[in-house]
Amino acid sequence: MPIIVIDPGHGGENRGGEYGEFVEKEINPIVAQAMKEHLEKFEDVTVFLTHEVDMDMTIKDRVAYAKEKNADFLYCLHFNLSVNHNLYGAEVWVPSRGELYSKGFTFAEIEMQELTDMGLFSRGIKTRLNDRGTDYYGILRYAAEMDVPCALIEHCHLDHAKDAFAVADGEESLKALGIRDAEAVAKYFGLKSEELGIDYSGYPVSQIPVPADIARPDETEPEVNEIELTSMDQETGMATIRMTASDSDSYIQYYAVSTDGGNTYSELLEWPRPEQWDVSAMEYTFTFQLPFDTAVELRTMAYNEYDKFTESNTIGVGTIEDPERLRQEMQQQKAEELLEKQQTYTEVTAEAFAGHTDPVSAAKPTGYSIGIMVSIAGIVLLMLILLMVLIRNLRGLLRYKKRK
Ligand SMILES: [Zn+2]
Repeated sequence: MPIIVIDPGHGGENRGGEYGEFVEKEINPIVAQAMKEHLEKFEDVTVFLTHEVDMDMTIKDRVAYAKEKNADFLYCLHFNLSVNHNLYGAEVWVPSRGELYSKGFTFAEIEMQELTDMGLFSRGIKTRLNDRGTDYYGILRYAAEMDVPCALIEHCHLDHAKDAFAVADGEESLKALGIRDAEAVAKYFGLKSEELGIDYSGYPVSQIPVPADIARPDETEPEVNEIELTSMDQETGMATIRMTASDSDSYIQYYAVSTDGGNTYSELLEWPRPEQWDVSAMEYTFTFQLPFDTAVELRTMAYNEYDKFTESNTIGVGTIEDPERLRQEMQQQKAEELLEKQQTYTEVTAEAFAGHTDPVSAAKPTGYSIGIMVSIAGIVLLMLILLMVLIRNLRGLLRYKKRK
């Protein structure tokens, strides 16, 4: 009959991570309570919370409490934040040594399955060491000292849009996470619930072997990150990039793309792990929208499970002219040429009319203008004839006067 102790992270003066409306010391207990309630629907299990009111409690006291209850497992519930607000996904931290590593990791695989099933990205099941070579997280360090199986669950990142769905409905979302946690525990311990009609007694738990040595975190960057531009659509600015990335100690978790030679990068993108959650693809071909009208220098970043990164080679793509801008410029040019032609015509007709016309009438259709010109020519001709007649008559008159 397993004894479970759930530790809602933080409390009292220690507020934990805070982002927007979320404060860890307020939300962790909601998850913990839902986890406890769901677990208690299973038979043959005893569940305790390290604290049920908002209070200060040292990390050591939390583990001591679990030890005192003779806990089979201590689950520490938390939410994450990242300094640059760029990380997203769920992670589970486990003790780095012996039996506790084996138990922690075995449980964590089931827990991670629950979290990824609901759509969260897996940031892995990891160990972390301090300078002295013992577990970095106090709760895991004390758990190791007091020999209490323990796992630290960082459900998701409160400060990243990609994880927002997991807490979007407030209390309801938090309770759903607690139920997921409880389900993982029930599967791990093979519990049964008549009330829920669930029987996990035959659940296939794949035991992680006890490590011979310390299960060390990966402290080195990925060894390989190379890119190749396989194609480029000048019309859309869409580049197809083949990226080869690997790390012999862990797996590739995220990648990011820079179009300015590494000065700025895209948000972190998910690197595929198609076969197993802890084995990443060696190579990935993806498309990326390049900016127009600026010199493009392609470069990528490959992050491993421990957020250590390696930058790739740089590919100078040159400047891709914005086809939309080119089209607009061509239209503009055509319009200008047309305007120029009209202006030339206006000047010509204006000269012909010697200032007797205005630009509006000058811009009228050619046929109409010719009509006017023909009429004017006619009038001029008529006047010439009249003048000639007048001159002839004048001569006749002069001659008549001479004769006189
Ligand atoms: Zn926390």
